[in-house]
Amino acid sequence: MPELPEVETVVKGLRRTVLGKTVRKVRVQAPPTSIVVSPSFGNRRFGRIIEGKTVLSVDRRGKNILISLSDEIVLWVHLKMTGHFFLPSRTQPLDKHDLVIFDFVPQATSGDRHHLRFNDYRRFGRLRLFYESELWQQEGLAELGPEPLETTPEQFIALCKSTRRMIKPALLDQAFLAGLGNIYADESLHASRIHPKRLTSSISTRKLAELHGNIQRLLKLAIRKMGTSVDSFSGINGQPGRFQKYLKVYGNEGDPCEFCGTKIIREKIGSRSSHFCPRCQRAPGY
Ligand SMILES: [Zn+2]
Repeated sequence: MPELPEVETVVKGLRRTVLGKTVRKVRVQAPPTSIVVSPSFGNRRFGRIIEGKTVLSVDRRGKNILISLSDEIVLWVHLKMTGHFFLPSRTQPLDKHDLVIFDFVPQATSGDRHHLRFNDYRRFGRLRLFYESELWQQEGLAELGPEPLETTPEQFIALCKSTRRMIKPALLDQAFLAGLGNIYADESLHASRIHPKRLTSSISTRKLAELHGNIQRLLKLAIRKMGTSVDSFSGINGQPGRFQKYLKVYGNEGDPCEFCGTKIIREKIGSRSSHFCPRCQRAPGY
């Protein structure tokens, strides 16, 4: 699933291509579950609401993409597993997984792409329309925790000390911290030599400061490398991310730990696989 750096990469791609553009036509061939329209729009359909609107800004909150349109309307997109935007030529045949097709009004300065598609073969992604005034009360946004790149070490330490739960599931919980997923949580814990089962409140302040630093360092590096492409992720121009070369534990089960040479193991913690070094990241109680 795309995490903070991958979503940020998509947001930057959308800013480069559709910011300031006006939607001319929208075609929807998505199942009803992929699209949510606020009751505030009455019976108006998704496409009809967006047509004629101009893209005013594109932002990210956690793993969510927020596209502000004119008339105080926000198109809120969550990519989930395989959702992605891409920019084919207008004449490229439609794929059955091209769920929403956006045509933009061509601009005089030509050379621009005026055609954007949202493709999602597993169909867990969501495109939602809300008015700005009601957006932040919606489940999925209302409960989001702080942004890891906008959190100071002191705030992060206080957050961890305020609860007593295993650090790995906490880092994945979007209400605790918004934007991390399995890849960056595993990598940050390994870089900080913290076992994924350690209780947040039991980790020393020094270690938590180190973890905070590693989370920010790895997220920033991954954004510069345009994300991690271990599944199907690519930016909107189709370019894969390059952070997978920097992964030390995620997906590296059986490979030697770069610190000590011990084999990286994978273990289910909570409901998710965790990758870690059993020597550097000592289990709680040892
Ligand atoms: Zn190790």
